[in-house]
Amino acid sequence: MYTAIGYAAQSATTPLAPMSFQRRSPRPDDVAIEILYCGVCHSDIHQARNEWGIAVYPLMPGHEIVGKVTAVGAQVTKHKVGDLVGVGCMVDSCRHCEACAANLEQYCLEGPTMTYATPDRVDGSNTMGGYSDSIVVSEHFVVRIPEKLDLASAAPILCAGITTYSPLKHYGVKAGDKVGILGMGGLGHMGIKFAKALGAEVTLFTRSASKAEEGRRQGADHVIVSTDAEQMKAAAGRFDFLLDTIPVQHDLNPYLDTLRFDGVHILVGLIEPVDPPVHAAKLVLGRRVLAGSLIGGIAETQEVLDFCAEHNITCDIEMLDIRQINEAYARMIAGDVKYRFVIDMATLKQ
Ligand code: NDP
Ligand code: ZN
Repeated sequence: MYTAIGYAAQSATTPLAPMSFQRRSPRPDDVAIEILYCGVCHSDIHQARNEWGIAVYPLMPGHEIVGKVTAVGAQVTKHKVGDLVGVGCMVDSCRHCEACAANLEQYCLEGPTMTYATPDRVDGSNTMGGYSDSIVVSEHFVVRIPEKLDLASAAPILCAGITTYSPLKHYGVKAGDKVGILGMGGLGHMGIKFAKALGAEVTLFTRSASKAEEGRRQGADHVIVSTDAEQMKAAAGRFDFLLDTIPVQHDLNPYLDTLRFDGVHILVGLIEPVDPPVHAAKLVLGRRVLAGSLIGGIAETQEVLDFCAEHNITCDIEMLDIRQINEAYARMIAGDVKYRFVIDMATLKQ
């Protein structure tokens, strides 16, 4: 064991504050990482404030981790000291169930061990995330950062990137498909870039008319202001896929109307009950599908990093001093970030 430092919430109503705590010494299959950058995901806010009802305190968020390997256990073969590596939302899984065998560790039938606020499978300790100077993770859950990528802007690929890439790939989005991206925050702006890179005709749905020009700059071919009922109505029956990153309950019905028959509305932002209810007729009459998707497996996380390097896709980031993390949360809730905060971990030592 050794003493690490980071920022954690002690309860759902207290701001994040510095904390020192114990991390394990590397086990034979572990990689120890000095964290250089960590992205700030809206899930971190949901969890710090216990909005999903599953938080465990102290809660140290952070699952968009990029850093340098400082030590490896005796059995590690995938990474070596000095390598630049990443850790996303998961740090372990059962590794033998049907989902794990299919490289879909996020759907592990015994439940994946998440990067924070989950009991470690070996010693039962509460996992602590990437708002920290270091982390120790089993090598299977550590990915390689391609040389070509800028380290800080690569961090959000570990969650915002894989979460939007994986469903677009799963549903086979291809050239000419009409894809709508709902909400342009951390996930949404990456969704636009991936859908575009796959050849789709991309439309951004945003509440914010002021984001229209920005959306086009990100690559969207069209922008629909979702609060304008006329614009929503004019889009009826148009889309093959909708990728919904909105982090709060919202009315899905007007969006379902914009799908073609056989169209698919993919939820990634919402895990609460859908409210108001979905009119089943909107699904039944058009054989439409309401679907969900959770991050992506480890192999696919490596794939999306390599895809970003190959296609020159980067996240738009705003570098953050960790001492400003609570202000950053407030700004994210207000939709005031372009488009991902990334903590410069050097500021933790100051
Ligand atoms: P951000 O806060 O960066 O962006 C969310 C965007 O949604 C905003 O920019 C805004 O876009 C829109 N939005 C925000 N509030 C509202 C509202 N009240 N009504 C309608 N639209 C709204 O969040 P992230 O991109 O980091 O995360 C999005 C969601 O995805 C979160 O709930 C997060 O927990 C979840 N998530 C899910 C994962 C999964 O595996 N399924 C993985 C990672 C995150 P605009 O202004 O353009 O309308
Ligand atoms: Zn996330």
